[in-house]
Amino acid sequence: MSKPVPSLKRRIRVLEFAGAGTYIVGMNETTQFATNTRTNLIGMDRTELAQAVVGIGEPPKAAKMRAKQLWHWIYHHGATEFAEMTSLNGALREALASVYTLERPKISREQCSEDGTRKWLLKFTDSQEAESVFIPEADRGALCISSQVGCTLTCRFCYTGTQRLVRNLSAREIVSQFLVARDSYGEWPSPRGGRLISNIVMMGMGEPLFNYDNVAKAIRIAMDEEGLSISRRRITLSTAGVAPMIERCGVELGVGLAISLHAVTDELRDELMPINRKYPLAQLLDACRRYPGASNARRITFEYVMLKGINDSPRDARALVRLIAGIPAKINLIPFNAWPDAPYECSTPDAIAKFAAIVNAAGYSSPVRTPRGRDILAACGQLRSDSVRASRSARSISPSPAKAVRAALS
Ligand code: SAH
Repeated sequence: MSKPVPSLKRRIRVLEFAGAGTYIVGMNETTQFATNTRTNLIGMDRTELAQAVVGIGEPPKAAKMRAKQLWHWIYHHGATEFAEMTSLNGALREALASVYTLERPKISREQCSEDGTRKWLLKFTDSQEAESVFIPEADRGALCISSQVGCTLTCRFCYTGTQRLVRNLSAREIVSQFLVARDSYGEWPSPRGGRLISNIVMMGMGEPLFNYDNVAKAIRIAMDEEGLSISRRRITLSTAGVAPMIERCGVELGVGLAISLHAVTDELRDELMPINRKYPLAQLLDACRRYPGASNARRITFEYVMLKGINDSPRDARALVRLIAGIPAKINLIPFNAWPDAPYECSTPDAIAKFAAIVNAAGYSSPVRTPRGRDILAACGQLRSDSVRASRSARSISPSPAKAVRAALS
């Protein structure tokens, strides 16, 4: 049985909505080619979804309800095809599929560590790539999501920092990392409890507060109770210290805050993390003191990478305690993850234990983060590092969009 085809008039309206160049309309119905640039609905908020259905001819008064239905299918059921959306009538499903897509980024590579950590290298429509990492634990699991391709921060201990920034990720590309992880474990529809992927940490490649709008939009989608439904208490955003954005993040999103601190004097922090020259420690800690919602039940996490002979002395530990006085905090000590030609070494287990004991004695929880996924370069500061080289050559052989269109037409 042949599929119903939207009328030419209707398709032309669709074209106008979707934007010139996204579709090629021939002289008759059989010569319409969908390129891989169909508008993707993932990452749209409810208002945009409503506009999208109106754009294909749905009556505006039904738009809100349609957007709600789409939302449910996309984020609760994880639908990848419009044909699955049985609460929508057949004609609407066809019309949606002719203009829109729910395509995920391509998985360029998926690796599993011996400790169960899983890492995906994802390729977006422009062939840029970013990584996400799933870190399972006994009773929960965190997905570590990237916010940018590359990073501008150039923190001296971070391998990602040796790569120049390519671009920000869009809200769609950020949310898609979560959808891909859920697809991979078949965790659909969104379970209410007992989830494998229960938490989100914005701790992948990039600085989330340099891409705030897209990150905020993606987080709002993830938190929506009618969809992915990840509570803000299960989401942590980590920043290298973009002080002026911290309060806004707390007010608007209310997620957990992690600060990559790593040094207790401006002199050392300026050297390790150039962003400190712009937003020095006093300004950063002031922003933390004002972080909305911070309390003993909801402490700010300070991440502290342990660098041998650089920041790991008992004196540093005591200075750290003084620095964060009055902030409801926990200190996450991260053993340095080495990378080729790294200018640092990891502190000795003894130095880490002594440092932790001093911080702990001052009343702060100071867990030492167990490195996860080191064998697949999935640990903190190791993301994307090997994929730059691989993707450069891959990019040179991937066809350009213009070539793809010509190929479709020939
Ligand atoms: N730009 C944000 C998000 C990245 S989170 C931020 O800086 O917070 C990644 C965490 O891993 C940060 O705390 C970062 O400082 C830390 N990190 C980077 N390189 C590391 C390495 N080689 N070993 C251990 N931790 C590292």
